[in-house]
Amino acid sequence: MTQKLQTDRDAIDSIDQQIVALISQRIASARQIGSTKGKHTDLAIRDPKREREVYDRWARIAEQNGLSGYYVGRVLREILSYSRRVQEGYLDQDASGNGHPVTRVGYQGTVNSYSFLAAKKLFSHREKTALEPNSFRTFRAAIDALVAGELEYALLPIENTIAGSLNETYELLKEHDLAIVDEEIWPVEHCLAGLPGSNLNEIFTIRSHPVALQQCQTFLARATWASTEAFYDTAAAAESLMAEGNKAVAAICSEECAHALGLDVLQRGVADQPHNQTRFVLIGRDPEPIDQRLSCKTSLRLALNHREGALAEILQSFAARKLNLTKLESRPKPESPWEYEFYVDLVGHQDDPAVAEAIADARAHTNYLRILGTYPRRGLELDQIPSTAPVHTANGNGDSPESNVPMTAAVSTRERKLPDRTTVQLGSVEFGGSRFVVIAGPCAVENRRQMLDTAQIVRDAGARVMRGGAYKPRTSHDSFQGLGWQGVELLVEAGRAYEVPVVTEVLRTEDVDRVAAVADAIQVGARNMQNYALLRTLGTIDRPIILKRGLSATIDELLKAAAYITAGGNNRVILCERGIRTFETATRSTLDVSSVPVLRHRTGLPVIVDPSHAAGERHLVEPLALAAAAVGADGLLVEVHANPEEALCDGPQAMTADDLKSLMAKLEPIVATHGRTL
Ligand code: PEP
Ligand code: MN
Repeated sequence: MTQKLQTDRDAIDSIDQQIVALISQRIASARQIGSTKGKHTDLAIRDPKREREVYDRWARIAEQNGLSGYYVGRVLREILSYSRRVQEGYLDQDASGNGHPVTRVGYQGTVNSYSFLAAKKLFSHREKTALEPNSFRTFRAAIDALVAGELEYALLPIENTIAGSLNETYELLKEHDLAIVDEEIWPVEHCLAGLPGSNLNEIFTIRSHPVALQQCQTFLARATWASTEAFYDTAAAAESLMAEGNKAVAAICSEECAHALGLDVLQRGVADQPHNQTRFVLIGRDPEPIDQRLSCKTSLRLALNHREGALAEILQSFAARKLNLTKLESRPKPESPWEYEFYVDLVGHQDDPAVAEAIADARAHTNYLRILGTYPRRGLELDQIPSTAPVHTANGNGDSPESNVPMTAAVSTRERKLPDRTTVQLGSVEFGGSRFVVIAGPCAVENRRQMLDTAQIVRDAGARVMRGGAYKPRTSHDSFQGLGWQGVELLVEAGRAYEVPVVTEVLRTEDVDRVAAVADAIQVGARNMQNYALLRTLGTIDRPIILKRGLSATIDELLKAAAYITAGGNNRVILCERGIRTFETATRSTLDVSSVPVLRHRTGLPVIVDPSHAAGERHLVEPLALAAAAVGADGLLVEVHANPEEALCDGPQAMTADDLKSLMAKLEPIVATHGRTL
């Protein structure tokens, strides 16, 4: 090397050191500003005017010095984006990290894979504790470790601008009740890397992840002398070169990876598309609060109800409030062929009134809607600075939705207008619509014959849903406790044979998934109305829930219990009045008929009445049922038995087949007064 070259290089090294030191000082000042903004919540996080001025000043100084304003501007853009992220860390003054000495983040792939690099980028500013990246062979393994509490987060790719969505990530979000807490955008810039001293023309094998190979088709087609080899990740392909020491093999990976491993970059820009970006989502076990001043995105998972135009209505609820959807993904539901779930990403914070209202509106057209999270919106270019002004809707009154009651059922004070009625689909049957629905069946499932006979009775009488308890909550442990899972199977078998959807009670959280997989609806009994663990689990499933009022529960407590289910995303809740404990002993419980109009005044959810458990005696069931219909209930839940004398449970209150037929006939004119049919 000539003396001159060495001197020039030394000068550059020394200048670089100064540049980095200056960037470090600039970031330190940005931190100070972040701290001020954190303490003064009235200050805007971004000041687009100020950013524009800084940008213009840089361009001017660059041009005065004979430099390209464009290239210098790009350097500034990176610095500003770094500063903004550093400032974010100061917004949540109370957050003291996650309580762990390090933040364990799982990712798929090896060290230096794109996922690893994205994790390092995201955590360069996100946490106050050090990042401990944990490598996993598969997405699922990373999520399993997160669920098991071995990680604080998992960072998984969710979409790529060329390859599209990564279905497996959506599947995992569906399988587990997790939250999206952040996102990261990684610009994928593939290069061809080889061992030091290797030469492009002497490369015979090019290895990489199949998707990366796919993305470099044009380059590979030209390199006719080389064959390709699939590897499970780009960084592992690069590492294998080092292990093998063969200069005839090269890898397609990121330039960062090549540098980290000491490989030579043989060629840059080998991808077909220059703009190749991957979006990653940071998944945590619980949602995390985020400052409303940040530019945010909110992700939703929803299942439509089967009304015509439901999807259009949902989209309209966002469009009407000028909310920008950034992604709409549909995923099949393997348990219900030809039905789909949707994942919606929109720009905005879930607490922004416009977003909250749009979600509340959209909810009415869904069977299930869960907010996966609100998180900072990444990857914004300087020249796409969003307006930080909050979006207000034409009808936005600034009210925040009440959080302790179902959205579809926002509590109305007397002054407010009546809530819109929500219908709930149970199998093929609609509750809360134009028909009054009778659910009938035995207290407990006893045997196959009994269930087949009951299904026939139910269907012949014109009742539309069958009940039957398999897991029985009995006051005395000596009483018949139900047939358990076998009872569920007998109920479902009879229901299928007679084409009537079925509902059964679940007592334990552990049984929810198994029962929900076969039954059309799940009942929460009076004794479990405040079993919050059970309610929370029921909030995560895509099955309607019949929630019975507790023996000593107020109407307010019933609504709050319903909110546990709807808050989890499941908005198919049917409320059931079944009598409460009072000083009166002449009846088993006192049927509180007034709860029906009160509930209908305060919630949009369907309200049904169980006169059987209130009455306790057969001859009282019919008059109470008629009263329920008269006060505007949406349906009934009654106990019938082919042979009440032999019933193993609640025989004295069970109706016979004839009783049920007679009740149905008497209901008809009463429900007609509410404009309904049976
Ligand atoms: C039932 O419906 O079988 C039942 C046990 O009712 P409740 O929970 O209302 O007592
Ligand atoms: Mn019973």
